[in-house]
Amino acid sequence: MDTLSLPRPGCCKWAEGDTGNYTFPCSNRVQPGVSYCDEHSAIVYIPPEERRRSRSGNSIPMTFRRAA
Ligand SMILES: [Zn+2]
Repeated sequence: MDTLSLPRPGCCKWAEGDTGNYTFPCSNRVQPGVSYCDEHSAIVYIPPEERRRSRSGNSIPMTFRRAA
């Protein structure tokens, strides 16, 4: 299996790409048990009010949002 298709242990699990073809371009180190670096946590964990305002109608799961 292509290692680029899997998140690296101890690194940010930020994913980009389409279903079944994700890549994990962010190699920032994260603490054990933490999925995303600070930068990507801020993107992934958007407050509900922000999520409502920016909803575009697509069905991309929050954990796999594309980079803007
Ligand atoms: Zn990251």
